[in-house]
Amino acid sequence: MDTPGTWTGSALHEGSIFNPPQQLEAHSPARTIVIVGAGFSGTAVATHLQRLPYAEPLRIVLIERAQTAGGVAYATREKSYLLNVPAGRMSLNAHDPLQFLAYAQRSLPQATAEDFLPRELYGQYLESSLRCATQAAPPHVHLQRVRGEVIAIEKPHRSTNVRVHLHAGNAITAQAVVLAPGNPGPAALPGGAGLPRSRYVADP
Ligand SMILES: Cc1cc2nc3c(=O)[nH]c(=O)nc-3n(C[C@H](O)[C@H](O)[C@H](O)COP(=O)(O)OP(=O)(O)OC[C@H]3O[C@@H](n4cnc5c(N)ncnc54)[C@H](O)[C@@H]3O)c2cc1C
Repeated sequence: MDTPGTWTGSALHEGSIFNPPQQLEAHSPARTIVIVGAGFSGTAVATHLQRLPYAEPLRIVLIERAQTAGGVAYATREKSYLLNVPAGRMSLNAHDPLQFLAYAQRSLPQATAEDFLPRELYGQYLESSLRCATQAAPPHVHLQRVRGEVIAIEKPHRSTNVRVHLHAGNAITAQAVVLAPGNPGPAALPGGAGLPRSRYVADP
C-alpha cells in the first residue's frame, strides 16, 4: 500500500495540482463528485465533467492511490512501450477523432493516424486534456486531485450523501461517486506459490 503524499510519475506529475488527503475538506458547500482512480477512466470522466454546464458550484475530487498516475496502461515506466491501438483511434474526444494524433504531432511531426505511438505520450495527452478542461472551467467548477487510497464508501442511513473514506483516516462527504479503480489484480494460480519466480510471474 502506498504512503499518502505527493502524486508523482513524470507523465502526470509535472506541475500537477495535488493534495495530500489530510488537506482535503471533509465537507464542502459545493455539490461534490468523488472519482476513485486516476487511470484512463477517472481522468477522462474528470475532464468531461468539467466541460458540462453547471448552474451551481461543483467540486470534483479525483483520488489516486498509486505513486504514478495514468493507470496500468499509460503511467510512465522506465522502459517505453507502444500503444496497441493506432493513434487515429485513441482520441478522448468523440467530436474530434484525430485529437490525440494532433497532440502527438507537436512532438512527433511525422506521426500518422496508423502509427502505434508511445504509451507515455498518451499519458501526457490525458494530463494535457485534463489541464485544458480545468483551465477552461468556470470559477464555480473546481477540481481537486488527491493522492490517497479509498478504502470504503458508506451510505449513512436516511442520507442522500455518501461518505468516502481514505486510508489516511479522513473521509469526504459527496453527492456522487464514480468508481474507476480498473481491474483487480490477477487471481493466484493454484499451485503457483511453489513455482520459481524465473518461470512464473504472478502479476506482470
Ligand atoms: C498492459 C496494458 C496495455 C494496454 N494498452 C492499451 C492500448 O494501447 N490502447 C488501449 O486503448 N487500451 C489499452 N489497454 C487497456 C486500457 O488499460 C484500459 O482500457 C484503460 O486504460 C483502463 O483504464 P481504467 O482507468 O479503467 O483502469 P486503470 O488504468 O487500471 O486505472 C485505475 C486507477 O485506479 C487506481 N485505484 C484503484 N483502486 C483505488 C483506490 N481504492 N483508491 C484510489 N485509487 C485507486 C489505480 O491505482 C489506477 O491508477 C491496455 C491495458 C493494459 C493492462
